[in-house]
Amino acid sequence: MPADRPRVLVVEDESAQREVLSYNLEAEGFEVSRAETGDEALLLLEEDSPDIILLDWMLPGLSGIEVCRQVKSRTETRTIPVIMLSARSEEVDRVRGLETGADDYVIKPYSVIELMARVRSQLRRTRPAAVGERLSFNDIILDSETHRVTRADKPLKLGPTEFRLLSTFMEKPGRVWSREQLLDRVWGRDIYVDTRTVDVHIGRLRKALCQHGGDDPVRTVRGAGYALG
Ligand code: CA
Repeated sequence: MPADRPRVLVVEDESAQREVLSYNLEAEGFEVSRAETGDEALLLLEEDSPDIILLDWMLPGLSGIEVCRQVKSRTETRTIPVIMLSARSEEVDRVRGLETGADDYVIKPYSVIELMARVRSQLRRTRPAAVGERLSFNDIILDSETHRVTRADKPLKLGPTEFRLLSTFMEKPGRVWSREQLLDRVWGRDIYVDTRTVDVHIGRLRKALCQHGGDDPVRTVRGAGYALG
């Protein structure tokens, strides 16, 4: 199971709805975590950052709106897209939902197909490699659907770990990743791997990227980690 499957947090108090939604997301290849209340969702968010949050508006205790407000006011979570799910269809509520920073808004009952399309559309912006987009950086092209990588139109041979490292880098060129963040994203948080393993695979990635010549595009940032470009 690849560690770079997109992670979704489903916050829904009604168990039947929560399970149907989770089942559909898992069938689409998502890794799903579930919360029944707003408080539980905020606790989970302190331990783990999902790639997207599906958030029911009407929750017992802390409302979906309040959860959304908190998610969008914290530096660590504010970039996570939030799709609000609501049975309330009044325009004023839609506006209120978007004002709290929700990225999208879906009215219940929704069609699963439509919801999945909205989810993918949010992820196309934040996790393009996870939804099969083609990424490019200078002369390097990575096709996350076919797992093919080329540089200056020549195919590159990459191991599976190097491929995941490269797709992580190519989603956000210039961003500096710490070794811990790379471990989390590329290897998954459930596996214990020494941070030196990251250095070994970065070395292999560099070699692979230069197998037909060209400059080394991976930058070592002293005391911080690695970046592409
Ligand atoms: Ca509810």
